[in-house]
Amino acid sequence: MTVVVPMRADEFRCSRCFLVYHRSQRVCGHEEQDICRECA
Ligand SMILES: [Zn+2]
Repeated sequence: MTVVVPMRADEFRCSRCFLVYHRSQRVCGHEEQDICRECA
């Protein structure tokens, strides 16, 4: 079993920079992808 980045239930991985952020940093409205504020 390979674990790249430990993620908690309240975190998500950005589809652009592939970093893990708290879900409060997620920006909605980008189709079905999770995008962080830095990439929005
Ligand atoms: Zn990002």
